[in-house]
Amino acid sequence: MTSQRTRERMVQRLGDLGISNLRVLEAMLHVPRHLFVDEAFAQRAYEDAALPIAFNQTISQPYIVARMTEQLVNALPDKPRVLEIGTGCGYQTAVLARLVNHVFTIERISPLLEKTKARLTSLSILNVTLKCADGNFGWSQFSPFDGILITAAAPQVPSALVKQLSEGGILVVPEGANQQVLRVYRKTGDKLEVQNLEAVRFVPLLDGVER
Ligand code: SAH
Repeated sequence: MTSQRTRERMVQRLGDLGISNLRVLEAMLHVPRHLFVDEAFAQRAYEDAALPIAFNQTISQPYIVARMTEQLVNALPDKPRVLEIGTGCGYQTAVLARLVNHVFTIERISPLLEKTKARLTSLSILNVTLKCADGNFGWSQFSPFDGILITAAAPQVPSALVKQLSEGGILVVPEGANQQVLRVYRKTGDKLEVQNLEAVRFVPLLDGVER
């Protein structure tokens, strides 16, 4: 159930659902999703479902990871630097890490971040820099970013994140409180173009950190 064959079937389903970027599909073929979920759920890791991880958080369903990643990478320049808000178990981080030059990722729950840091290191995923902080403020030290991916639902995109986006940069976010929509923003000059994708359900983007 946790084999390469199971993963191949997952990727096949993603193709059937309309994911067409071959690099994204290839990345998802390689990242061992069963190692990112709790052992009790490892058998279900390749179903197209969101699953619980520690600290009342969830790992997003494979289709949504693929969809968000595809929207982002289709629009990125060569050797991009990407900021992720909401590291969680690090599955999305690991997929991104195969596709971009460097991933900066922020998680607000410190013990969750520590576990994820160890997991990524043990998988030899090394082009990732992680920190525990409130992602609402972004990571100005390493800005601007060619892409920003927010994996928790924000009532609206935090303005610090828009500021830290490069010219032509792309931001993917589940936006809204009760009703959430996946949105893609592109920054051109002082304008922000927006495109609405489908309805989604994410845990909320919260304030502050938990130690
Ligand atoms: N990308 C993750 C999805 C995790 S769920 C994965 O593949 O597993 C969303 C995560 O966002 C949770 O871990 C939650 O703690 C985190 N989060 C919520 N608000 C945040 C904030 N303001 N800053 C950083 N992380 C936040």
